[in-house]
Amino acid sequence: MTKIVIVGGGIIGATIAYELSLNSDFEITLFEQENSPALHSTSASLGVLMGILSPKAKGRSWKLRQKSLERYETLIPELEKLTGKTISYNQQGIVELLFPEDSLETWKSLIKIRKHQGYHLEIWDKNKLFKECPQVEINNIIGAVYSPQDRQVDPIELTEALIAGATLNGVNLEFGVKVQKILTTGTHDENNCICERVLTSKGEVETDFLIMAAGVDTTELTQNFKNPLDIRPVLGQALQVKIEENNYNFNPVITGDDIHIVPLKNNEYWIGATVEFPNEKGDIIMQENLLEEMKEIAFSYCPILKNSTILKTWSGKRPRPEGRPAPIIEKLTGTNNILLATGHYRNGIILAPATALIIKDFLINN
Ligand SMILES: Cc1cc2nc3c(=O)[nH]c(=O)nc-3n(C[C@H](O)[C@H](O)[C@H](O)COP(=O)(O)OP(=O)(O)OC[C@H]3O[C@@H](n4cnc5c(N)ncnc54)[C@H](O)[C@@H]3O)c2cc1C
Repeated sequence: MTKIVIVGGGIIGATIAYELSLNSDFEITLFEQENSPALHSTSASLGVLMGILSPKAKGRSWKLRQKSLERYETLIPELEKLTGKTISYNQQGIVELLFPEDSLETWKSLIKIRKHQGYHLEIWDKNKLFKECPQVEINNIIGAVYSPQDRQVDPIELTEALIAGATLNGVNLEFGVKVQKILTTGTHDENNCICERVLTSKGEVETDFLIMAAGVDTTELTQNFKNPLDIRPVLGQALQVKIEENNYNFNPVITGDDIHIVPLKNNEYWIGATVEFPNEKGDIIMQENLLEEMKEIAFSYCPILKNSTILKTWSGKRPRPEGRPAPIIEKLTGTNNILLATGHYRNGIILAPATALIIKDFLINN
């Protein structure tokens, strides 16, 4: 049996633990410093799985999205069957609003590419948009692009189901245990640094492979290595509102100007999220006016929300790799058995299945 230690019980660590648990050659332990999963970036997420509508037509970013969307269609029913848990998974698609400054030609060319790739996107004019989505009422609009195969998932329900599924498949889950130090042999210079054990708040544990899925905290964990990671937090604020009644049969995610309006059960919606970078000193100062502005824009798209009650507001920190593309799924430079699965920035929920499959392929082939 190959011993594997995973650090982090957010969406990335949980998906890797579940995907690896399907292979009986692995003896897996996941350490999460909190007492339950999905408490950091994952808990703040809106779970919008924007793949087909993404402007990335080809290359790594598109391939990761494509791989994930494919796996999501089997993963959700598989987990529900295994665990008996219900995962809120919106399969009504995503409607992206088009404004006068948007280029229809660019969209038409993406539609052609997606058709070739086996996906469907359609452009709606204003009349079609208002007919299909009467909740949208906005003058300054030219129409929308509808993507029926894009999805949205509840990130906390999903992470909990992944953890439950991994446990049923024999993964050893250690909550409330922090990985404090990575104990290595060999040298970084000769690229043969090997992690044989990790020191946790509960003691030392041996491992054959270490997978770091610690989000923004991966920076701290890699500080003593020759090539430490630089993952910086980017703040996002969001809110949940409730309206009196929702008589709409068609409830896709509506997105415009990078703001998502996500329908939930019980006439509730999530609205998000702001994108707030750290200042020169590296500090993040939450700007409440940005949440207010975002709310007003969302309410102007869907005036039914103006009479809603705000149930809660929250914020979270997205793990963004500094100076390089997100995400980082590779061996830590100079080491032989430390794998990085981190820095997913704004796309950790959509990219989790592809990340886990890449890590699994690596472990099977090495
Ligand atoms: C407001 C907001 C909205 C978002 N919306 C979307 C969206 O619609 N779609 C989408 O795809 N993405 C979205 N994202 C991004 C997404 O949430 C993140 O990319 C994703 O959650 C990152 O997951 P993760 O598992 O890497 O990190 P985290 O969820 O932060 O998990 C890392 C875990 O590692 C644990 N940990 C760290 N260090 C240690 C240690 N030393 N020992 C033990 N445990 C440790 C932490 O406690 C934490 O639980 C959003 C993010 C925010 C903030």
